[in-house]
Amino acid sequence: MKRIAIDMDDVLAKTTHVIIDRINQLVEKKYSYEELMSGNTSVKEEFYGHYLANNSFLWEPGFFENIPVNEDAVEVVKKLTEHYEVFIVSAATEFPNSLKEKIGWMEQYFPFITWKHIVFCGHKHMIQADYLIDDHEKNLHTFTGTPLLFTAPHNLHIHDFQRVNNWKEVEKLLLD
Ligand SMILES: [Mg+2]
Repeated sequence: MKRIAIDMDDVLAKTTHVIIDRINQLVEKKYSYEELMSGNTSVKEEFYGHYLANNSFLWEPGFFENIPVNEDAVEVVKKLTEHYEVFIVSAATEFPNSLKEKIGWMEQYFPFITWKHIVFCGHKHMIQADYLIDDHEKNLHTFTGTPLLFTAPHNLHIHDFQRVNNWKEVEKLLLD
């Protein structure tokens, strides 16, 4: 059975959507996910400037508890578990409060994936699998299997990896 490692933030979970809401509250702006996806680089630079200066909420208790699940993620991951060995791999140890919250989040949305198949780490370069689905280039470029870049506003400029734009595309690629 081939093994797939799947990232959480901005792959299973709509983390950037929640980050945008928090930044909008903090700096009194109205950034939107669609705007960041549109390729308007000046808006994007402005947003990520605010983000880098104001992202301490990532370390606060509760942040990772209430993040919406990505469209079609539950259905497609469920199907993947019937054909692959699926591990959820999250670089979560930077955010100590997130560990329990992420386990709870997985129990809520993906109860068919147990703690035995959830890996929390710092770096991901020791992860051995056939596929890694992740939104961050830093996690994909050291990966020894087939890296799949899951589209997010912060990776639109990356062209070094096969890209999947959504979970329907993952389904087509890995299950058809
Ligand atoms: Mg991620």
